[in-house]
Amino acid sequence: MLQTLPQELSETQAQRLLAWYDRHHRELPWRVSPSSAKAGQRADPYRIWLSEVMLQQTTVQAVKPFFAKFLALWPKVTDLAAAPVEDVMAAWAGLGYYARARNLKKCAEAVAADHGGVFPDTEDGLRSLPGIGDYTAAAVAAIAFNRQAAVMDGNVERVISRLYAIDAPLPGSKPVMKAKVRLLTPADRPGDFAQAMMDLGATICTPKRPACSLCPLREGCIALAEHDPERFPVKAAKKDKPVRVGAAFVAVTPDGEVLLRRRIETGLLGGMTEVPTTAWTSRIDGGDTEDHAPFAASWEACGTIVHVFTHFELRLSVFRAQTEKQAAEGWWEPVDNLDAQALPTVMKKAITQALPLAFAKQPH
Ligand code: SF4
Repeated sequence: MLQTLPQELSETQAQRLLAWYDRHHRELPWRVSPSSAKAGQRADPYRIWLSEVMLQQTTVQAVKPFFAKFLALWPKVTDLAAAPVEDVMAAWAGLGYYARARNLKKCAEAVAADHGGVFPDTEDGLRSLPGIGDYTAAAVAAIAFNRQAAVMDGNVERVISRLYAIDAPLPGSKPVMKAKVRLLTPADRPGDFAQAMMDLGATICTPKRPACSLCPLREGCIALAEHDPERFPVKAAKKDKPVRVGAAFVAVTPDGEVLLRRRIETGLLGGMTEVPTTAWTSRIDGGDTEDHAPFAASWEACGTIVHVFTHFELRLSVFRAQTEKQAAEGWWEPVDNLDAQALPTVMKKAITQALPLAFAKQPH
């Protein structure tokens, strides 16, 4: 059953949450502190936008070094707009979901070319930019421009679903949850409110064993009153992911150079760098043997790596060959320089399977 809270209670809840945020907010490199925000200082929209794009599907801890690297390379949105796309893809390598990097570049170019290097300051204006959807538009509008936008990420969904004991499963229940967030979001300090909800979900209202006794919203939380917060959010049953198979070929010269090539621009991992690989197919007799190698050599089987994409699980058989340089599509790159290439995580895994010391650190 969907429960509702009266408007006055919503306002009280918002004030309690903001008071908690003033004391317990997370220090994050893209934020300004609540005291600075109250004094009128606004977060830089470029930093907020960059962090929000990076944080989609990725944890705060994983994002921090990438955020620092991007800001060091491209301190302003106009710097990012002017950067070669290959450099942006290489800097993004390891964060996954590479369409985000291509959209990031397109969005920076649109801000530079169409808006004089200044981000639009409304949800609608932000949503008109390439790659900015409802969530990112609301987050940047609220946090950087203090607009009363309803911001809802996974953390906020969890808090709202518990606060109102929303029984309908995700993702179908999102519109109902968004309406609740809109009702709760105050006209005063909406940006801090959005960040407070995110912080509450990340630190108190956690997926397992939420710390309800420390929660500023415990009075009025229906899931807590029903003694069953962990039941929420209710999610639709997941289907097993389909499996695809393929082979990856790591060719190494006596001088320690590895054959690399660039994937076509469109499709999964478009424009990223790879070692030669077959197509990835769901056929059980798919191209996962050395017969599909890019050239004849003494290919040695090194085992299989598994990588899970959003819509399928990939099992790649990895082969390695010591070889003189061959005429083949792509280029030969020194092993020491592999870290600087736009290699997605699945390719780093494949290369590491063949050459365990290829990377200074393990793939993310
Ligand atoms: S009281 Fe517990 S379940 Fe309810 S919002 Fe707070 S932490 Fe989440």
